[in-house]
Amino acid sequence: MSKNYISTEEYTRRFPKSGKLFEEARKYLPAGVNSTARAVWSGWEPYPLFAEKGTGSHITDVDGNEFIDYLLGLGPMLLGHRHEIVTAAVTKHINEVGTVSALASELDNIAARKMTECVPSVEQVRFLNSGTEAVTYALRLARTYTGRKKIIRFEGMYHGFSDSIYWSKHPSKNAIDEFGNCTPEPQGPGVPDSIGDSLIICQWNDLDALARIIEENHEDIAAVITEPVMCNTGCILPKPGYLEGMRRLTEKYEILLIYDEVITGFRITLSGAQGYYGIEPDISVFAKGMGGGYPVAALGGKKEIMKLVDSGKVSVAGTYSGNGIALSATSATLDYLRTPGLYDELNNKSSKLRDGINDIWAKSKVPAHVVGIGAMFQVWFSDRPITNYREASLYAKEDIFRIWWEEMLFRGILFHPHYFENIFVSTAHTDRDIDGTLQKAEEAVASVEKRLDA
Ligand code: PMP
Repeated sequence: MSKNYISTEEYTRRFPKSGKLFEEARKYLPAGVNSTARAVWSGWEPYPLFAEKGTGSHITDVDGNEFIDYLLGLGPMLLGHRHEIVTAAVTKHINEVGTVSALASELDNIAARKMTECVPSVEQVRFLNSGTEAVTYALRLARTYTGRKKIIRFEGMYHGFSDSIYWSKHPSKNAIDEFGNCTPEPQGPGVPDSIGDSLIICQWNDLDALARIIEENHEDIAAVITEPVMCNTGCILPKPGYLEGMRRLTEKYEILLIYDEVITGFRITLSGAQGYYGIEPDISVFAKGMGGGYPVAALGGKKEIMKLVDSGKVSVAGTYSGNGIALSATSATLDYLRTPGLYDELNNKSSKLRDGINDIWAKSKVPAHVVGIGAMFQVWFSDRPITNYREASLYAKEDIFRIWWEEMLFRGILFHPHYFENIFVSTAHTDRDIDGTLQKAEEAVASVEKRLDA
């Protein structure tokens, strides 16, 4: 670990049981965990904390440390842990109906109707289990609908781990030339090289570059896939007019626009980022926020496109797709999210926290600014604005982020240790949580300054 980081001994003193469990975990689980995002190399140095129990906006680790939780399972816990309405709906369904039947059920209709009511661009929906699945099918659907092969994707975004799109999330320095042209780079080994031919990689937030690429290649381009807010390289907002320009260009050349709202969906507004920005994509993908903490995802869009699924031309399958646990959770979550005033309250709390943390850093000597929208944000340790992945990798200081993370963690505030992740707020966070977090942030920032001076 870097010399500025807390020592392994000190970390182990604070989190001894997690350390012991991690040692044991490594015997049976590669890297000791079940997802890359929990691995040591994703920021959890020297080892991840082991959770004991989550309740509302709080989570306790196995060492008895209680945290105000802004990690929130990386997004799904939009209502906080074990929300009683969702828990009741799911347990009732398990007890009275069961989980998987391989038959259709009225719950399918109910959950689907609610999705279409919440998100107007979604005229029809197919439920799936993960964001990865939903994106994979969205790309297949776009290629079939347009009869074209290529997909435009942006550096810095993550759209799941399927071979078709697990490319250029955080590519190397060499994957871009001096004119800003990007070469597709698999995000890891084992992905067939040939798939790179089906992708065109662009820098986000640069409408001129996108226009040039679309104008030169439009006959081959099936779809542009984007997160409407970049949430997998910290938090980066679209420049004014960028999403509108992207919509105009895709419409002009009959290219499908796919919004990956796995993180933004139901988090920014009930109708996702598309509702906030007032832009209708052709296909949308949702996951995390819609299920109140249960594994579920959705692929939705205009009937004109979904008719390919309707006719069976494009098969969208899955033994567990639309299972009883997923849909009872979705149905209850969407009901709860439609509570009048809920998003106003959530956004007010989130803005208070976001602005408060921004103000605290602004008063310090450390160059830092907060970027966010709705119930998500991130702190950039940079004196320059960050508008795309390349700027983030050049200008943002990962090591200062880590020190800030440690200082907050030791004061009972939990979020992901990597600066490319996000800080999430839930409907369960109280004013007391927010005020308490701001107080801890004051102390943490003073300590960060001292540690950087030392
Ligand atoms: N798209 C985006 C924008 C995501 O952030 C993620 C996961 N973080 C995915 C897709 C993949 O979702 P899942 O992990 O459910 O497969």
